[in-house]
Amino acid sequence: MLEILNLSKKYGKTLAVDQVSFLVPDGQIGVLLGPNGAGKSTIIKSIAGLVRYEGQVRIQGILGKSVDAKKVFAYVPEIPAMYEALTVREHIDFILKAYQAETTGEEIEHLLERFELADKQNKLGNELSKGMMQKVSICCALVVKPQVILLDEPMVGLDPAAIKELKKIVLELKEQGVTVLISTHMLEMVKELWDVTFVMEKGHIIGTYSKDTVGAENLEDLFFQVTSGGVSEHSGRETESSGRRV
Ligand code: ATP
Repeated sequence: MLEILNLSKKYGKTLAVDQVSFLVPDGQIGVLLGPNGAGKSTIIKSIAGLVRYEGQVRIQGILGKSVDAKKVFAYVPEIPAMYEALTVREHIDFILKAYQAETTGEEIEHLLERFELADKQNKLGNELSKGMMQKVSICCALVVKPQVILLDEPMVGLDPAAIKELKKIVLELKEQGVTVLISTHMLEMVKELWDVTFVMEKGHIIGTYSKDTVGAENLEDLFFQVTSGGVSEHSGRETESSGRRV
């Protein structure tokens, strides 16, 4: 489970995230959806402990700022960062050592094959295309078998085959009880995936939608209603100070 309580983050005078609270239950796929600059990456970086913030983050009940929390989640950054002098396989081995994960050679091979990286294992970080870097970054996160995974705009830069594979994997993770948080500004990318969507604008969550309540097909309409400011009333919907909850 992922619990965020009153999270705020300022960069100098810019209030990037303002008192945001939300929860992604065990084994569910949560989506942070919003336009560029809404604060999605800042929230994900805060959860990952990469920036200072105010408020509370709990990952599997463990305080986000602790070392124990870092053992249970994995993070795929918006912009992949490779070690220039390590090969693809060495990136995987390095991350496995850091997490002390006991993933078998067979599992690693299978994962690399799924992202068409099996024949690129000996390529160095600085020999990879941006899309390949993104795939390595995703493999590094998956290979440690995290209980919670944070994916910041994970589909950007991927080819259609990799997008399809990643979507499949996200659904498999859900089946396994892994909690997933995906940030995106592209509704299309998460259409078949989401369980709960948090629509963001200017550092706030302005709408919280559960698939069980609104139905997958209605998300697009709801998104445009809340982001354009005009919201028609639907039954079963209530407005809360932290945003619209359906
Ligand atoms: P995108 O979809 O473009 O990735 P986002 O929703 O992830 O956008 P953030 O990157 O979290 O948005 O940015 C939220 C706000 O914080 C924006 O106003 C942005 O300009 C500002 N911001 C983000 N990072 C920094 C930084 N390192 N220094 C100063 N301001 C920042």
